[in-house]
Amino acid sequence: MNFSEFIEKYATHPNYHAPTGIELHAKSWQCEAPLRMLLNNLDRRVAENPEELVVYGGTGQAARNPEALLQIIKCLLELDDNHSLLIQSGKAVGIVRTHPEAPRVLIANSNLVPVWATWDHFEKLKSEGLMMYGQMTAGSWIYIGSQGILQGTFETFAACGAKYFHGDLKHKLIVSGGLGGMGGAQPLAATLADATFLGIDIDPERIKKRVESGYIDFISYSYSEAKEMVLKAKEHGKAISVGLVADIGDTLEQLLADGIIPDVVTDQTSAHDPLYGYIPNGLTLEAARTLRKVAPEKYKELSMKSMARHVGFMLEMQKMGAIVFDYGNNLREMALQGGEKNAYNFNGFIPEFIRPLFCDGKGPFRWAALSGDPEDIRVTDQALIEAFPDNLQMIAWLKKAEQRVEFQGLPARICWLGMGEREKAGVLFNNLVKAGKVKAPIVIGRDHLDCGSVASPNRETEKMLDGSDAVSDWPLLNLMANTGGGATWVSFHHGGGVGMGYSQHAGMVVLADGTERGENCIRRVLFNDPALGIFRHNDAGYEKARENMHTFELGFK
Ligand code: NAD
Repeated sequence: MNFSEFIEKYATHPNYHAPTGIELHAKSWQCEAPLRMLLNNLDRRVAENPEELVVYGGTGQAARNPEALLQIIKCLLELDDNHSLLIQSGKAVGIVRTHPEAPRVLIANSNLVPVWATWDHFEKLKSEGLMMYGQMTAGSWIYIGSQGILQGTFETFAACGAKYFHGDLKHKLIVSGGLGGMGGAQPLAATLADATFLGIDIDPERIKKRVESGYIDFISYSYSEAKEMVLKAKEHGKAISVGLVADIGDTLEQLLADGIIPDVVTDQTSAHDPLYGYIPNGLTLEAARTLRKVAPEKYKELSMKSMARHVGFMLEMQKMGAIVFDYGNNLREMALQGGEKNAYNFNGFIPEFIRPLFCDGKGPFRWAALSGDPEDIRVTDQALIEAFPDNLQMIAWLKKAEQRVEFQGLPARICWLGMGEREKAGVLFNNLVKAGKVKAPIVIGRDHLDCGSVASPNRETEKMLDGSDAVSDWPLLNLMANTGGGATWVSFHHGGGVGMGYSQHAGMVVLADGTERGENCIRRVLFNDPALGIFRHNDAGYEKARENMHTFELGFK
């Protein structure tokens, strides 16, 4: 198949999809893997808005523009295993000489020198065609749809239940805003954790997408109807989810006026981006689109004021007994800037629920079957269940996921695994490929939201024991360790999750292709990557990480 035929079949803008099966289009699986994952990121079943090359998280893109995307595809089709492609904010800029165990693609997205690292400066560069916002897994080509955040959200809700509700979320109501790419995982995660869920999104199309993919049970256009449904379900201990088309601030205000205090309140609107990610109170989607174009400064001001009002209602609910936490979208910071001076009176989800997992080197390990065959994921699930018979939580999760999670695009699975476990799982998958038990290679990656790969003081590194929240040497060390270790592609981004100026983070993907080279790379990368998380938390003074330094013999001899 020549280049034009390939484009016609897989990449006529805005209709993208990854090739499946065992036939190679690139020169090796190492080059085919990033090609398939890039196209998968932009598949309509996966991406929120392929027209704009937006994958998720507000404006998180996989490539800078359609022309730049074509060039990347061309390079990947022609690349060989002694070269690596350089991507600068979603555009191919060069090819360098490397070797077969080096990463095939080296990606840097949205990075700005700190003093210039603001949305305003970024927007100026973006409008001149010089940059794109890579979010985390959008620009690093390892987004797998809402499932990518599903287990993390499930773990977070379950941890919240364990910490505040004696381990049981039955008869508990969770209320949250935003049902987009990541936020759309909340309803299914909540019902998997036995809670009743009310989600609010201003855009009906977003909710419809979740209904179609089985992530949410019902859509409602009426506050009263949605309220009755969830109150009845809560009373009967029924784990159902309802998506209400409304403004999140207005709904919280109405709930307060009706004396309804949810058990848990959080939010996943794209608050990190006040211009493109949040719809100001009182505006229709259409009016918001127009105002954004004609008066962006006014838009941002209204947006931040609305977030202040929104957080004000969350704080009132907190006073009345609700468990309230920030879910990683920088909502508190935007609300503070919008005038809510007590915005930081509730915690972020990392110090609340996730940091102990980071001390074990745990994080959102994920993999995708390049064959496109769902049976390959079933085989990997089963292999993990057999290889980790004592990990009952993981087994319970994999069984639930098999029953409840519909794949979007290439079949994939997420499962939080820690130090030791990731390497073991990676080698296991490589052996499945070698033995022909799965039909094609498997890519193994993770979110940048991980134990040792991110500096984000309002999220992953909020309230570190030693106050080192803003130190971003760690994600750079992570990038270098994974590059040296031989990941198949690596990335370094700025601004993911929480927006420009607020985070720096690294990503990696490594290929299980059944070869000895694959095993060598997997053993190094899947050791180094979680080890960085343990080093980082040990250095900050966490006892659990210190114990893990001994358990895994990570200390200096
Ligand atoms: P998205 O842009 O796909 O979805 C955001 C949704 O918010 C949209 O559907 C939009 O219609 C809705 N919305 C905006 N303003 C609203 C309002 N006033 N009222 C009601 N709904 C409104 O984004 P996403 O991928 O779902 O990510 C959401 C946020 O979570 C982002 O800030 C992202 O950076 C962050 N995030 C969190 C995690 C985590 O682990 N907690 C992980 C990744 C991303």
